[in-house]
Amino acid sequence: MIYSDGKPYYSLNNAYRQKFGRKAVKISLDAGFTCPNRDGTLGTRGCIFCSQKGSGDFTAKGSSIIEQIAYGKNQKKWQGQFPCYIAYFQAFTNTYAPVTVLKKCYEQAICCDDVVGISIATRPDCLGEDVLNLLSEINEKIDVCVELGLQTIKQSSIELIRRGYQNDVFEKAVLELSKRNIEIVVHIILGLPYESKKDMIDTIKYINHFPVNGVKLQLLYVLSDSDLAQYYKQGNFETLCLESYVDIVCDCIEYMRPDIVIHRLTGDGDAENLIAPLWSKNKRLVLNTIHKTLKQRNAFQGKKYIK
Ligand code: SF4
Repeated sequence: MIYSDGKPYYSLNNAYRQKFGRKAVKISLDAGFTCPNRDGTLGTRGCIFCSQKGSGDFTAKGSSIIEQIAYGKNQKKWQGQFPCYIAYFQAFTNTYAPVTVLKKCYEQAICCDDVVGISIATRPDCLGEDVLNLLSEINEKIDVCVELGLQTIKQSSIELIRRGYQNDVFEKAVLELSKRNIEIVVHIILGLPYESKKDMIDTIKYINHFPVNGVKLQLLYVLSDSDLAQYYKQGNFETLCLESYVDIVCDCIEYMRPDIVIHRLTGDGDAENLIAPLWSKNKRLVLNTIHKTLKQRNAFQGKKYIK
């Protein structure tokens, strides 16, 4: 099956064009939040792969949300394209603050010109009733998408990465968000230590059962300012090579439900802090290899999906 933009999978660009009628660009923001896995509530070291910037290494410069959005909009690469924008609350846990604070942040973003939606990266255990009600209220005014860091469903991996919640917490969060018609995107990491291809496909099959709208497939990379760096340097595991990664991604696409939008097909860690795998710096090469391999295999999203 070929999607309307000619790709054998449901790409984010395609989904944005269908929804907004033009190109949409995400502006990564750091609203100054923390995370229960960092502030001592659940832990102090964070998830094993998380960088010191709370996985928000590409957030826009500027102190306020409004300044960051203005900075993001001013990037040369968008000049002349006249896109609309999604304010992406990326760094740390973006529902982990009193609702009055959250409301102020989100509202600052949605008041900016040409911002047509907000994306909120968070943990499923940080979605209390008051937060859900706030998201629902904002969702009445503008497109709201919540991005949940699931990463994996394998128990030993959940412990290794110090995720700090069980899969049933994710399931409850998905149902609560879905009840409120809030879009849900799930982050999955491919290449976690000791995971087989079958383990990764099991995570995709699991996701398929839920009312999930999008998925980010993220290569596991090692950043120098994460605890994973130490674990890696001690020789505990190897990162994937390009060929294995591409093979796994293509399988994941084939097993994925056809209506799930694929927001990302690779990882893009901060190049200055990247220890491994170094081939991931060449994002163009990775994407081209994935596209080429899909074509060679005559593969498409959902080819192996069984209800
Ligand atoms: S939940 Fe997110 S921000 Fe918090 S430690 Fe894990 S990856 Fe980092």
